[in-house]
Amino acid sequence: MKVRSRKVVPTDVYLSFVSSLFENRNTLFTGMVVHILTFLAIYSKSGDAFYLALCAGFVIVFANRIYWFSRFEQTDKLQLTRSEIRLWERRYVLGAASTAAILGTGSGYAIFVLQDSFAELAAIAVTMASMVSVVGRNYGSRLAVDLQTLACCLPMVIGSLLAQDFYKALLSLMLIPFGLTTRAMANGVREFLYANVIASQEMEKIAGRFDTALTNMTHGLVMLDPHNRIEVINRKACELLHLGDRKRLTNCDLDVVLRYGVRHTFVDGSMPSLIQKQLAQLIDGSTSRAVMQFSEDLILEFSASRRPEGGVVLIFEDVTARIRADRKILHMVRYDSLTGLPQRAYFCDLVKDKVAQQEDLGQVGFMVLDVDEFKHVNDMKGHITGDRLLVAIANRLLELAAGEAIVGHFVGDQFVLFFPGREGELDLDTRMRSIHERIAGSYEVEGLHIAVTFSAGCVILDSAEFRMEEWQIKADLALYEAKSRSRGRLVFFAEEMDARYVERQRLKTDLRVAVDAGDISVAYQPMFKPDGSALECCEALARWTHPEKGAIPPNVFIQVAEEMGIVSEITRQVIMKACRDCMAWPEHISVSVNLSMQDLRNELIIDTVTSVLAETGLAPGRLHLEVTESSLIEELSTVRLILEQLRGYGITIAIDDFGTGFSSLSYLDTLPVDVVKIDRSFVRNICEDVRRLNLLRGIVTLSRGLNLQIVVEGVETREQLALLIKYNCADLIQGYVYSTPIPSSEIEELSRLAESKQFEARTYVA
Ligand code: C2E
Ligand code: MG
Ligand code: MG
Repeated sequence: MKVRSRKVVPTDVYLSFVSSLFENRNTLFTGMVVHILTFLAIYSKSGDAFYLALCAGFVIVFANRIYWFSRFEQTDKLQLTRSEIRLWERRYVLGAASTAAILGTGSGYAIFVLQDSFAELAAIAVTMASMVSVVGRNYGSRLAVDLQTLACCLPMVIGSLLAQDFYKALLSLMLIPFGLTTRAMANGVREFLYANVIASQEMEKIAGRFDTALTNMTHGLVMLDPHNRIEVINRKACELLHLGDRKRLTNCDLDVVLRYGVRHTFVDGSMPSLIQKQLAQLIDGSTSRAVMQFSEDLILEFSASRRPEGGVVLIFEDVTARIRADRKILHMVRYDSLTGLPQRAYFCDLVKDKVAQQEDLGQVGFMVLDVDEFKHVNDMKGHITGDRLLVAIANRLLELAAGEAIVGHFVGDQFVLFFPGREGELDLDTRMRSIHERIAGSYEVEGLHIAVTFSAGCVILDSAEFRMEEWQIKADLALYEAKSRSRGRLVFFAEEMDARYVERQRLKTDLRVAVDAGDISVAYQPMFKPDGSALECCEALARWTHPEKGAIPPNVFIQVAEEMGIVSEITRQVIMKACRDCMAWPEHISVSVNLSMQDLRNELIIDTVTSVLAETGLAPGRLHLEVTESSLIEELSTVRLILEQLRGYGITIAIDDFGTGFSSLSYLDTLPVDVVKIDRSFVRNICEDVRRLNLLRGIVTLSRGLNLQIVVEGVETREQLALLIKYNCADLIQGYVYSTPIPSSEIEELSRLAESKQFEARTYVA
């Protein structure tokens, strides 16, 4: 960098140059002593008092310069402005140029006036020596160099020229290039130093910035040399690795430093081998990223980049929160939050892994366990108890299946188990049955003892034929079969179930077509006064005649419709037909329509009923609605609200199949119910078994106590009828003893016959 003008020199550099002028008072003193001695010597040789005057000049100038030197020393340099610095430079230049002028004058005088060879030699020598020192000490000021050179040389040139001596004139001319060279040298030194000062300033600035950047990095950084010694380490790295003062770590071995940090802070004992291995891999370049767990509370993610000159730069950050969140999310995705068991997707992964790990697993088993009547627990004991029961079941399952099977939890009250086949052990069948047997039993939940049974669907397959979805379908089919039989059953999948499943799917398709076409017809089963003297009400029973299979029992197709979610449409059609038909019957006859559980799940049924009543014009008092006990327990509060509203319109509510569900006389009085229809299972043996009769009478007494009207269903024989009449067990009788379900058109005739006493039990069959 060329220093063309002082203006371009930054103030701090300018100050450092000017400061350099005021350094080293000793040389100033030495110079002054030499100058005086020389001039005294000339005086003693020549006797010319002019030199004594010049000596006095030296002393005065020296005193003056020393005064300014000490003043400068006392000045607070950092406070100096540029013009003040310039003033100091000028003060210096004045002193230096004065000394040079005295020297130059002494030399010029010796050449021109004394013309004594000693005097000339001594004066010129000391002047030239001073000139040389000009470069060494005055390079910082161009003005000082220029003026000193001029002040030294000019008197000598003038003296030489005035002496009118050819050789002296020649010498004087030589002084010009000498002066110029001196000046150029001083400038060269100044420029060189200036460039260096600027460069080192730049470097300092860059180093400062680099240090600030390192210190403020949110990441930890360690730069290692090829021998794994720390060259650079930033503050964050020390913080994260629990290390002390970073300045002390330079040149230390990373491994040793980490051991120190690890031992004294966050991990007890030696550095875990996994971390060591991961670090080694990062350093040797076999991996470029690694997540290292130093402790429960410290997980760092490292990335490494190799340096071209050897060594490596490690950058790392604290990812504890992120990794924890990731793990939490993963856990939430994988495991059921209630039971802590693997959910469907993760369970499938575990099974797939197991199958992949052991190629020859042989036969493997898959079991779906379903808690029997879990809804009942939920509804009767509350959801919290239900949840706790599931947790208790999950825990017991885990205990029982430890080392035996992989356990998962898919939905609600269903658990799944995968049994890998193992040689030399009990066969899968026995192992599965054993778990099914042992999981059933009494569970203590919140101080309650709940007896739990499980329906189980199982399938045993060859692991080579592993197809998760297929297994699930097969186990589900077996479970379906188990549940349709009785509680607590375990059923193994059999091929015919598949056929039944396919059959059922077909039935579903056909049912949808029939419902859409309005092909569901209705038959009516009358209810008579026990003595048969009056037909009071008719139960509407849905009928479906399949084009190929003929009549399908309502028990079957209603359940299918429920599975398909279209039962409410059937209900709507039946209510519509029943109300229309009832309008055609004598006014005292009511019609009773069955509602499905699903009808009571939302308030749409209210709209259906009211719009049908409005459309057909049937008096609400002539419409009865039958609900089963099981539909009452599901969502009890919603059902209660719906029934209350319907009853509010004047509709009669009957409990159907009473006694078959969770006979809960306890809640019967709290429900908006008018009629109880005692299930035919209570009638079946009353003639043969007196205890059955007593049971029936007990139910009747209780129901009467609650002011409920009693319909006894399924009365088939005159004997049963006679007993029911004898013990006054029924307000109405419904059963084959009087009539099977018949078409609507026959109701009026039947009613007429009853009233005219021409109708007898067992006389009317459609
Ligand atoms: P439920 O409501 O208890 O209807 C009485 C069932 O008992 C009828 O069977 C009827 O034919 C039969 N039954 C009547 N008297 C006797 C008897 O003396 N002995 C014997 N063994 N059976 C008798 P069905 O018509 O096959 O209906 C079966 C069930 O299907 C009904 O039981 C009812 O729960 C359901 N269901 C029928 N129609 C509908 C409907 O439109 N909607 C709904 N949700 N369910 C319906
Ligand atoms: Mg019924
Ligand atoms: Mg019934």
